[in-house]
Amino acid sequence: MSAAALPVCRSCGAPLTTTFVDLGETPLANSYVTAEDVAQGRERRFPLHARVCGKCFLVQVDDPVEPEAIFSDYAYFSSISDSWVEHARRYAEAMIARFRLGPHSLVVEIASNDGYLLQHFLAAGVPALGVEPAANVAAAAVAKGVPTEVAFFGRVTAERLAARGIHADLIAANNVLAHVPDIRDFLAGFATLLAAEGVATFEFPHLLNLIRDVQFDTIYHEHFSYLSLIAVEAAFAATGLRAFDVEALPTHGGSLRLYACRADAGHRETERLAALRATERGAGLDRLDAYRGFAPRVEAVKRDFLAFLAAARADGKRVAAYGAAAKGNTFLNVCGVGAADIDCVFDRSPAKQGKLLPGSHIPILSPERLAEARPDYLVVLPWNLIDEIRDQTQAIAAWGGRWVVALPRLRVLAP
Ligand SMILES: [Zn+2]
Repeated sequence: MSAAALPVCRSCGAPLTTTFVDLGETPLANSYVTAEDVAQGRERRFPLHARVCGKCFLVQVDDPVEPEAIFSDYAYFSSISDSWVEHARRYAEAMIARFRLGPHSLVVEIASNDGYLLQHFLAAGVPALGVEPAANVAAAAVAKGVPTEVAFFGRVTAERLAARGIHADLIAANNVLAHVPDIRDFLAGFATLLAAEGVATFEFPHLLNLIRDVQFDTIYHEHFSYLSLIAVEAAFAATGLRAFDVEALPTHGGSLRLYACRADAGHRETERLAALRATERGAGLDRLDAYRGFAPRVEAVKRDFLAFLAAARADGKRVAAYGAAAKGNTFLNVCGVGAADIDCVFDRSPAKQGKLLPGSHIPILSPERLAEARPDYLVVLPWNLIDEIRDQTQAIAAWGGRWVVALPRLRVLAP
């Protein structure tokens, strides 16, 4: 590839000369297919290449896929997950108390989904407005009484809302920053929409955990950016924002909740923010060497998993998987594993049952069929939910089945 063809950083515009990890070509991780799609050759693959910017240290994937193809019919309804609704309730409670939100305030959520979060503010008497790009999901929010604007958020949308006199005391952007193709335009919207002393919170999986625990399976096309405090603060500085506090959360294998305000607001910076900056520097996230060591560790995980599958096959063991989530699809496709290696994958979502995993084409079955399949090994793809899934699949103990987790290193767990 010539220098002129190098992609540029989606945040600061510098040329991206350093690979973080090149995962080859894979289908979109949320594009479940039917046997007919596969027979007709309707499945498309796209390069999945993560690079790190040598100037602002944003880790990012190339985006050969237009965002509308991914998000306009995005069928993920947040309220499906009980633990997620509970996370949202606790968030609302904490924000109302800390920032003294009341009937005079306004809370805006970006990518508000079906209103799973804003419903808690409304119930507490705090006015709320959702901004959601998927029209079908926004309609579900409106139906339950959550006012929702159908739009992609960014500078233009923020200016349109501000022109209507809308200024937010709190903007929630939880698990959305990583999904935004133009991160600077997106953040510029916050400086426009925030009230003078308003607060924005951003939750995102922390890159430090991704690197430490070799979470390469969290890399997929719909996740444009893999965020550190260093990279986000560089983007804030360019868009009129600044961070003033941070919390570590256990969600998604280790996330951050970053608190930000307009650069000229009065919120005092906390010691834990300064401590996290020091932690990231201590881990070398401000130097390219820390990123160059990642790809060989991915290779090691892949090698160990393939060796496990080969040994299981040689022993005549039955191998199945659990959890047809996006991260499992990256993992299986990067490993080059298919239906010849893993018989089936069990998943509780009726919308996925009867379909095939993208790329690997492993059939998705209801967990009710576990006893009929009697796998000797159950590979738990969403490793972050291993305790919960182990509880739900205790039945495999009856025939001596064991659980397998591949990340951060291969582990076989007995009942
Ligand atoms: Zn950059």
